[in-house]
Amino acid sequence: MASGSIFNISRYAVHDGPGIRTTVFLKGCPLRCWWCHNPEGVSQERSLMFFEYKCILCKTCAGVCPAGAFSFANNLHHLDRTSCNNCGLCSETCPTEALSHAGRMIAVTELMQEIEKDVLLYDNSGGGVTFSGGEPLLQHLFLNEALTECKNRDLRTVLDTSGYASEAVLSSVLDRVDVILYDLKLADEEEHRKYTGVSNNPIKENLRMLADRGRGRDVILRFPVIPGITDTQKNVDALVEFISTLKGINEIDLLLFHDVSEKYHRLGMEYQMPVRQAPAPSKIKYIKERFESIGLYVKT
Ligand code: SF4
Ligand code: SF4
Repeated sequence: MASGSIFNISRYAVHDGPGIRTTVFLKGCPLRCWWCHNPEGVSQERSLMFFEYKCILCKTCAGVCPAGAFSFANNLHHLDRTSCNNCGLCSETCPTEALSHAGRMIAVTELMQEIEKDVLLYDNSGGGVTFSGGEPLLQHLFLNEALTECKNRDLRTVLDTSGYASEAVLSSVLDRVDVILYDLKLADEEEHRKYTGVSNNPIKENLRMLADRGRGRDVILRFPVIPGITDTQKNVDALVEFISTLKGINEIDLLLFHDVSEKYHRLGMEYQMPVRQAPAPSKIKYIKERFESIGLYVKT
């Protein structure tokens, strides 16, 4: 059976599809959204995180690191990520878990054992299993096997996707996916490239393909409300126009921006967001009304 790279299994999830769900977060994403709330899921490799407040300056990490990536001066801990080869020894030996790696390989058989622990919850709530990320379609062989095993157990499945994949890859999973959480961010291609690193053409084409194949009713759109980037009148109007041409889609969830700069700091990643404040209530109201004007049920 296939193995895949995951960075979390979240139990009792209530925002990742209908009912109470187990959400499996697959590692790796082809997009680089400036506001990404799960930066530890971007790389397909495991990601080293440093929690400064947990460090007791014991220097155990410096003793085990084969790359000499750690140094200490003036009671401060310094990690040189450019020399790190991701061997994992530091996080295995750090006594306080100040160092920790996000991400591990898991076989489908082990994953299913984890999922089966929650089956009673699904039965009582109409829930099931959600595959999220990262972009789960990036590991489509692993995803396909996991979905097949879910369906062999009559579990209801949700795919949480950016839609950025080939039509063939997306099509390959559809018969075992009950609900598709589908991100729509920016209507303009140049802006999409600027803020996510990729074109939005495959995303739009795949969404149209889902609608044309009669799967629009299974799609719940997700719109990240990012101040100054996605929440502009121009973008919202263009998305409203695009969505109104698609058959069967009747729900959109608004995902409100919040500042996750601390997560980026722990990972040694640059946080590119120029603003840190949450979207204004008046903006959220405007966006909600615009999407409602084309008959969408809008959840915030
Ligand atoms: S092993 Fe952990 S607690 Fe000790 S110095 Fe390194 S990071 Fe800090
Ligand atoms: S993962 Fe390995 S190479 Fe990287 S800092 Fe930790 S011990 Fe050093």
